[in-house]
Amino acid sequence: MQRVALFPGSFDPFTKGHEDIVLRGLRLFDQVVIGIGNNATKKRYFPLNVMKEMIEKTFSSESNVIVITYEDLTAHTAREIGATFLLRGLRNTTDFEYENGISQVNRYLYEEIETVFLITSPLLAPISSSIIRDLHRYGQRVDDFLPYSLSELDKLNQES
Ligand code: ADP
Repeated sequence: MQRVALFPGSFDPFTKGHEDIVLRGLRLFDQVVIGIGNNATKKRYFPLNVMKEMIEKTFSSESNVIVITYEDLTAHTAREIGATFLLRGLRNTTDFEYENGISQVNRYLYEEIETVFLITSPLLAPISSSIIRDLHRYGQRVDDFLPYSLSELDKLNQES
């Protein structure tokens, strides 16, 4: 049986920390599905379709990585796409507190799902999407934190 993992998140934006989790996840699973959760009540900084395109470009040479967007509960989406694992990254104890609760709720909703946590690679631990958004908002260069070209992202952003 194929081992399919869903890597859910807001990815606003997708960072080198996220990329690291996907690449390491590929050693554990046959397929990693990156799921960009679209919460209709939360306004994104980087539009969903633009981020999906940039993530797809990042993994264009990895046939076992696919990118989807979803609006449903994560557990229901995992069941729908045949994923029996959720992949998540752990940076610190704050992440742990949050992830602990959410993984238990996900198993309540979908008994067969197991959440697999990867501890962040040390050099990537300080990277967070919210810090990158703040830096970008004030015109600071953030290329070093992203696995794709920021100018391409900004261009697509203006066109969208
Ligand atoms: P959410 O909005 O669900 O918290 P994020 O897009 O912020 O989603 O993050 C998705 C997942 O990636 C989470 O498991 C988060 O802990 C993990 N993550 C975020 N930043 C990093 C990083 N620098 N290194 C490793 N994992 C990370």
